[in-house]
Amino acid sequence: MALRIEVAPVSSFCPGVARAVKTTEKELEKGGRPIYSCGPLIHNPAVVEVLSEHGLEILDESHEGELSGATVIIRSHGIDSATEERLSRLGARLVDATCPTVKRAQDAARRLLEENRAVVVVGSSDHPEVRAIAGRAGGPVAVVADAAAAREWAGTLGKPAPPVGVIAQTTVARDAFRSVVEALGEAVGDVKAVDTLCTAVEQRQEEAVDLAGRVDLLLVVGGRNSSNTRTLAHCCESAGAETHLIEDPGEIELSWLAGVGSVGVTGGASTPDWLIERTVERLVELSAETAG
Ligand code: SF4
Repeated sequence: MALRIEVAPVSSFCPGVARAVKTTEKELEKGGRPIYSCGPLIHNPAVVEVLSEHGLEILDESHEGELSGATVIIRSHGIDSATEERLSRLGARLVDATCPTVKRAQDAARRLLEENRAVVVVGSSDHPEVRAIAGRAGGPVAVVADAAAAREWAGTLGKPAPPVGVIAQTTVARDAFRSVVEALGEAVGDVKAVDTLCTAVEQRQEEAVDLAGRVDLLLVVGGRNSSNTRTLAHCCESAGAETHLIEDPGEIELSWLAGVGSVGVTGGASTPDWLIERTVERLVELSAETAG
């Protein structure tokens, strides 16, 4: 029986990543060198490698003496104000590819501080987007991963506790955001939550979970260093689907297809469509092998 392969309707670049990659490609086409990105442009090693072959370098401290006139792309995650100012002082021409949805989260943090609220971001403190939000807010911003950490943070605020403002890293699961808001509501009282979650990520998760219910096996294609890709794989697993996160179609093992009649394919927000297409091609090849 032929393997049925179904690709999720939204499975490749999100609008913010597509914009950052397009902006970078345009800069590379202009031909001026050097061109740097502040950190890997996106969390997908295959795309980063292709861009590097076309001349994009990842900025590090060793480049700081050669930044006068150089182009530096600010990736979709954004950067903190201090880094932006330092790069400008060094003479870099900054090209801002910060995703508008991330900018909305940055603005929300700043406004909540201006309202004299103690501000907390639900997310991962070492994620570049969260570091940029905290580094552009103009005041102290706490970061919590879950409701337990939020309760612990609330306990440090003193009595009476100040009003609190909550936002989220754009790619965290809605349940995590909701549970932190509820925990703080119980602990503090005056809590203003601003929904900064990315609807493009939520739509992708919903479609992947739907797909997980229709297939025997689900492949999530994307960088293991990508937070939204890992969350996507977790959503599919939680929906009960046998799920594998792969960075490259070469990782698919023939044994995964034993007794499998249908495979779903989806990808993270930084996964290019050509990687999804190659994954489908590889599945067709492996299916032919198992049939033979
Ligand atoms: S996942 Fe959402 S917030 Fe992040 S870059 Fe893409 S569109 Fe922007």
